[in-house]
Amino acid sequence: MPENSHSQEINKSAGTVIDVPCTECKRSTKHKVLASVDVAGEDWYGNNSVQYNTHNQIVQCQGCETTTFRTCSTNSEDFDYLSHDRLEYIETVVLYPSRNEGRTPLKDVYLLPSNIQRIYEETIKAMNNDQPVLAGIGIRALVETICKDKQAADNNLFDKINALVQIGVLTTDGATILHQIRTLGNDAVHEVKPHKTDQLSLALDVCEHLLQGVYLLPYYAKQTFK
Ligand SMILES: [Zn+2]
Repeated sequence: MPENSHSQEINKSAGTVIDVPCTECKRSTKHKVLASVDVAGEDWYGNNSVQYNTHNQIVQCQGCETTTFRTCSTNSEDFDYLSHDRLEYIETVVLYPSRNEGRTPLKDVYLLPSNIQRIYEETIKAMNNDQPVLAGIGIRALVETICKDKQAADNNLFDKINALVQIGVLTTDGATILHQIRTLGNDAVHEVKPHKTDQLSLALDVCEHLLQGVYLLPYYAKQTFK
């Protein structure tokens, strides 16, 4: 039986530039890998083996120079089919500190309808606890519930989102992004597939704008200009 193998190389990926969400810039920016420990190996189980690669990297934002840590792993068992004969290995990226750590909810959440407040707060918790499947489902539920509450009623979520534009609570740009969220939710529910943290984070930003515009700003306006 072949032997297990394990090797590491120092700074193999150093100097490369990758897109990483920045803790300070609050968006995805170019990061340079300052130093790395790049690990590769193969473990044998009977006649089968699993190959793996992990890149442990110190990365620095090329805008604000904030320095953080990133690991990016792939293995031969974790892939998606792009078509019946083409596959793509799935990269698992973990960032330290977590880019959603301490994402704080909107203030005055108690002004939201109670069911919307609950879904919103649970979605924030899922984001902050690195639970991307649940966060994706939560974002979709949030959009569904706002549509229902605003009686943007139609058969499916696609039509409901467009109805939010027609009743004037959502811009067409916002709708375009919500349509992406709709797809996110579909994937999360039907394929139980986690989504990229930066996509979920943007989707949640859009939901927060919607909550602001639909519930919070009208309330503040009434208080301020009565
Ligand atoms: Zn930065």
